Amino acid sequence: MSELKYKRVMLKISGEALAGDKGHGIDTDTVNEICERISIVHKMGAEIAIVVGGGNFWRGRSGKGMDRTTADHMGMLATVINSLGLQDALESRDIPVRVQTAIEMRQIAEPYVRRKAVRHLEKKRIVIFACGMGNPYFSTDTAAALRAAEIDAEIILMAKNVDGVYDSDPSKNVNAVKYDKLSYQEYLNKGLCALDLTAASFCKDNAIPTLVFGLNDPDNIIRAVKGEEIGTTIY
Ligand code: UDP
Repeated sequence: MSELKYKRVMLKISGEALAGDKGHGIDTDTVNEICERISIVHKMGAEIAIVVGGGNFWRGRSGKGMDRTTADHMGMLATVINSLGLQDALESRDIPVRVQTAIEMRQIAEPYVRRKAVRHLEKKRIVIFACGMGNPYFSTDTAAALRAAEIDAEIILMAKNVDGVYDSDPSKNVNAVKYDKLSYQEYLNKGLCALDLTAASFCKDNAIPTLVFGLNDPDNIIRAVKGEEIGTTIY
């Protein structure tokens, strides 16, 4: 336990991160690589909650001409597919896992109940929160922020395809500069986009730090929970 900086963490994994090089859907090798690292930090004693996105299948805002609420419901269902994929890969490593959904689907998973989620964490079960917050017009970044506050997570570990927060898009600008640390106020003033602004504003109001880091090296999950200096910390 002493090796870990954080006891209870909220790990946010973007849907894209599960797609690996395929860019779409689920790449089971990639999911296994990620879950192997999660199982290592779990065995080290961390209490881990996970929110996973759905962008590898669908994002509400991609539904051109569609009713936005319907398109967002589709996005939330995509997070359930990813959550079940993670659950399966973790359980195959003998890690106890519970998926809780913000929209009830009892045949598949538990409904979200905060007290039960906290109890699971105390019993060293990994809890995966699916369906985001259950409300359209929001993202899974905001869901991760809200659930982190509800379960008293010390930090949000935001695993992305990019290795931190940059002053401009590093895939388009070779001169983009990475921040090691910045405040939520600076982040909001600059209109940066590593996590969405609703989530950033919520984290600022509730004093929850976020570490944005790259999943290009899955070992970063272990480094992040140990508190090593990787990625960008927003405080
Ligand atoms: N979504 C939603 N409400 C939520 C969380 C997610 O409506 O509380 C929908 C929304 O359509 C979003 C999609 O689910 O585009 C997938 O989530 P997100 O875009 O955050 O996934 P990521 O980019 O992290 O893969």
